Formats: sequence, structure tokens, C-alpha cells
Amino acid sequence: MKIDVLSLFPAMFQGVFGESILKKAQEKDAVQLNVINFREYSTNKHQNVDDYPYGGGAGMVLTPQPIFDAVEELSNQDTKPRVVLLCPQGERYTQKKAEELAKEDHLIFICGHYEGYDERIREHVVTDEISIGDYVLTGGELGAMVVIDSVVRLLPGVLGNYESAAKDSHSTGLLEHPHYTRPADFRGFKVPEVLMSGDHQKIERWREKESLKRTLLRRPDMLESMELTKEQQKILQELEKEI
Ligand code: SAM
Repeated sequence: MKIDVLSLFPAMFQGVFGESILKKAQEKDAVQLNVINFREYSTNKHQNVDDYPYGGGAGMVLTPQPIFDAVEELSNQDTKPRVVLLCPQGERYTQKKAEELAKEDHLIFICGHYEGYDERIREHVVTDEISIGDYVLTGGELGAMVVIDSVVRLLPGVLGNYESAAKDSHSTGLLEHPHYTRPADFRGFKVPEVLMSGDHQKIERWREKESLKRTLLRRPDMLESMELTKEQQKILQELEKEI
């Protein structure tokens, strides 16, 4: 996968792209990450990228020219990329969207700043508008990092087997079950017996039940949109009596 990020503050990405899984993913050639300062594309003699809003009002607006030119140049090298605009007005980001984006060959992220974008960028350049939550950030950079991290970890070969993403919270439609490691008794707080029983069937059922319980207690909305198996429905009935 190729990912281009258009940002006025490229240095913000150095730490995040240079560590941990994102660093390893680039070393393994699973992804090519390029951060481009779109000011370089400005044809304005002072390399301005923003201007006052028509109609007046507070804040500066990103002008269309540098972003149009940057996206056009980055796009004509291969098949049509998905062009993602980070924006608090966009579709709320989910694991499902991460899975969808992970299937693409080329993504371009546009990070805004200031008051916003000239609307023509949204209308004529962008394919997807993503919000990472119902709050307002100073710029799109942190949002782009969140989306890129969650997409890249899904690319084939990026996570090792033991870090597999398939059972993570949200991937299955449920929140993940609790985990325990050694010691079995820490300050009198004990690990559930079943996990040390060696009975894999029982362990699997315990995990399924804990996962459903956690989702029921913390995110009942997730259960509403999920198709439960017969076994899960049975466990849920048990839980409703127990809780
Ligand atoms: N005036 C804009 C509005 O009310 O919709 C908010 C602009 S915000 C201060 C500046 C930039 O931060 C946005 O253009 C966007 O790139 C980014 N941003 C802010 N909140 C975001 C969010 N929740 N998700 C993704 N990007 C966000």
C-alpha cells in the first residue's frame, strides 16, 4: 500500500511513523508512507496556502489550488486513490472503515488546519470524509495518524501471529475478553481457575461469555447491530439472568 499525507506540519509524523508497528511495516515493505508539505505546491509568490473567508468571519480558509495540484500530481501515477479528508463533520471512524481502507492500494490523506477548507476541495477532490470523534482538534494530523495506524496494522504480514488483529475489540463486533498473565496470584488477586485448567473448550466458552458480558455492560449498542450465533444468544440469556 502507498499512503501519501498532505500536511503543513510534516514533522509531527516523524515520531509516530518512525516507531513500533508503523516503522516495522515500512521496513517489511508492506506500506510506503510519504508526508508532503502541500505548501510546496502553492503557486502563490509567498507560498500562501490560506486566505480570508468570503463573506467575512473569523479564521483562515485553506485555498483550493495547492491541494488540487498536490492530489492531481500524486494521483496520476497509478489507479485512482481514495482521497481522505480529516474533518470533524465527516463520517465517524470505525474498525469497519479501517478494514475497508486496508483493501486499497493507494490512500491520500488531507490534513486541514485553521478554520477549514475551501468547500470545492470537499466537492471535487475528496472521496471520503472522516472524523475521529465528536470533538474538534487543531489540525487533521492527529486524525490522520489514528486512521493510518489502524489501517496499516491490518495489512498482510504487518502483525505477527501473536499480535493478530482478528480477535481484537470491534473486529469481531464485540469487545475483547479480559486477559491475564503470570503470576496466578498477585497480592491475593487471583486469575480465574478456568484459564489454568488446560480445557480449551471451556476456556473458549469463558472468553466468549466474558466478551459478551463486557459488550453488554459497556457497549450494548454494539449488540443491537450484530447478528449473534445461537451459542452467543444462549450465553446472552444466561448473562441477562446473572447480571
Ligand atoms: N471549523 C471547522 C468545523 O467547525 O468543522 C473545524 C476546523 S478544525 C479547528 C481544523 C482541522 O482539524 C480540520 O480541518 C480537520 O482537518 C481537523 N480536525 C478537527 N477535528 C477533527 C476530528 N474530530 N476528526 C478529524 N479531523 C479533525
